[in-house]
Amino acid sequence: MNTPTLGIIGGGQLGSLIADAAKKIDIKTVILSDDPNAPGKHFAAKFIFGKYDDDTTINNFINKVDLVTYEFENIPFTILKKINEKKKVLPKPEINQLIQHRETEKKFLNDNNITTTKYVTIKNEKDLRENVDLLPGLLKTTTLGYDGKGQYKLNTVDDITNEIDFTKEYILEKLIHLKKEISVVITRYDQNSYEIYDPIENIHKDQILKYSTIPSDISDDIRIKSIGWAKLIAERLDYIGTLCVEFFIDADDNLYSNEIAPRVHNSGHLTMNSHNISQFENHVRAVCGLEKIKTKKLYDAKMINLIGDDITLYRNKTLKDNEFFYDYLKTEIKNKRKMGHITIIQK
Ligand code: ADP
Ligand code: MG
Repeated sequence: MNTPTLGIIGGGQLGSLIADAAKKIDIKTVILSDDPNAPGKHFAAKFIFGKYDDDTTINNFINKVDLVTYEFENIPFTILKKINEKKKVLPKPEINQLIQHRETEKKFLNDNNITTTKYVTIKNEKDLRENVDLLPGLLKTTTLGYDGKGQYKLNTVDDITNEIDFTKEYILEKLIHLKKEISVVITRYDQNSYEIYDPIENIHKDQILKYSTIPSDISDDIRIKSIGWAKLIAERLDYIGTLCVEFFIDADDNLYSNEIAPRVHNSGHLTMNSHNISQFENHVRAVCGLEKIKTKKLYDAKMINLIGDDITLYRNKTLKDNEFFYDYLKTEIKNKRKMGHITIIQK
């Protein structure tokens, strides 16, 4: 097969880093974004700006690529399905549909005997008041949430106020005593054919990922169990490409699967420097049907997200030879916006 041209829906940092990894192995990319200033235009061979629900835009995109992947899970299923009729979309659209809704996502996990925190579906205020025994808890919108957006922390009944927007659907999740958060990034190439990165330890600030470290400081039991669950998830979904499973570990060393990201993940950015093959290159290789190369860790590493103003310091900084700085080239610095990251390897 001649090398295919890969279409990527979404032109944020994830789409950009996929395009960058593809370029290094001579795969051409076309990024489609609904933001004319998306960072992706600096990274992809071709950049198309247009709305995802616009037929002319979609047809123009489809005609330029051999297959399609995506950087984020919030693209409407109907659009992915339509594209998939003409050019293959990987991971397949049904996976995206399942995971973009917190309720179907959690049901899928529990149906496969993977532990999640306790939760109930909340359709209105009455449902919430009937389930206050789950408090303290987090009320999370069933769709479109990320970086803690669309969440309310409810300690007691008194926190059920007018501020909660009941035009939306939620799940109410019991708050657990978090000891640690880890993630497992896995790339599935085919049935029982994987590359897996060891669990990565994550620290969030204001519900946004701030630090990721490999290796994580966890017991062998937790390591084996989290990797086993990530494999099971990838297999049951018949997934092709890179996915990430986020986990919680509570004070009693219980492991819970928090959520699945059907895409490359922020916690996996350090693999660009810690491993011979990054999560992005593995994703491109898997979806394009290229050779699977044994993925090995070369260095221990720590990644720091540069959020908002953090980036300005690094734009002019002289880096040490074990530091790697990535600027997503976003046009505007915004509070809480992920602007770039730095990875420090331990030589
Ligand atoms: P998002 O989709 O915004 O990433 P998450 O469900 O991953 O939403 O929640 C964001 C963060 O909030 C988590 O990484 C964790 O730090 C905290 N959190 C979420 N749910 C719980 C919970 N049930 N108990 C304790 N902390 C939680
Ligand atoms: Mg999360």
